Amino acid sequence: MQITRRRLMASATATLAASALPRRGWTQTSLMMGDTEIITLSDGWLDLPADFIFGPMPQDELAAILAQYGIDPSAPLTPPCNLTLLRRGDTLALFDAGAGTQFSPNAGTLPDALATAGIDPFDITHVIFTHGHPDHLWGVLDDFDEPFFGNAEHMMGGVEFDYWMDEGTVASIGEARASFAVGAQRRLEVIADQVTRIGDGDEVLPGVVAGLTAGHTPGHLVFTIGDGSDAVMVLGDAIGNDHIAFARPGWISGSDQDPEAAAATRMRLFDRITADGLTVVGFHLGHGGIGTVEAEGEGYTFRPSA
Ligand SMILES: [Zn+2]
Repeated sequence: MQITRRRLMASATATLAASALPRRGWTQTSLMMGDTEIITLSDGWLDLPADFIFGPMPQDELAAILAQYGIDPSAPLTPPCNLTLLRRGDTLALFDAGAGTQFSPNAGTLPDALATAGIDPFDITHVIFTHGHPDHLWGVLDDFDEPFFGNAEHMMGGVEFDYWMDEGTVASIGEARASFAVGAQRRLEVIADQVTRIGDGDEVLPGVVAGLTAGHTPGHLVFTIGDGSDAVMVLGDAIGNDHIAFARPGWISGSDQDPEAAAATRMRLFDRITADGLTVVGFHLGHGGIGTVEAEGEGYTFRPSA
């Protein structure tokens, strides 16, 4: 067992913690594909002003669609955060690292979810990033600024890595996201030596292929696991919610850094997902995030498996 400051602290407080802390984390949903198991683990949820996503949308039509989903457009949005874990033999690959403790008060519960699932963070073999936003990246370090997944190979799109490490990004990204850039750079500097750069079309693990899906961020990647109609696509935030992003995938969303490119990417992905009958796993989709997609009206509907 690897000894770290986090381990020493944890062993000193374990007896107290076991009795005093509520269990916030849980293993949510899973599916089997041959010898590969796909599990989603909850990292809690975000609290966002609704305007952050809905601001640029046609408000009258938006209100009618949100009503169908039971969403109050004036209330804060509370999107769930689902991390995807792939287990196959000795491989335990985690897609994204969660938010950690410094981003959002109700996010960062992944350590509890891992513990509940009986998984030691030091047994994670790969951490494969979809992109560098705080809810996906900041959990990569523990509270002592040491890598939380201390034995894992970390993989990030080369385009994405370079974007967040670029000194100019803090100034160009806009005031609302300047802290994203500062936080990403600080963390990536710590893990830089453990990061393998990946790109479009790369087979990052046997049968797992990266796909460049720019728009939400400049170097966002999705990952297709397996092939044919049995394949599963890890969407990250390329399709960022199970309401408006499905019902009107062509609308521009305030949550995407290049909204036009992100809308084009969403429509291209939906075409492929429905043509190939793919199962999807979405980071911010409900009911654990695993499900299928059906064409409906002007857009699509998410059919969660759980
Ligand atoms: Zn996200």
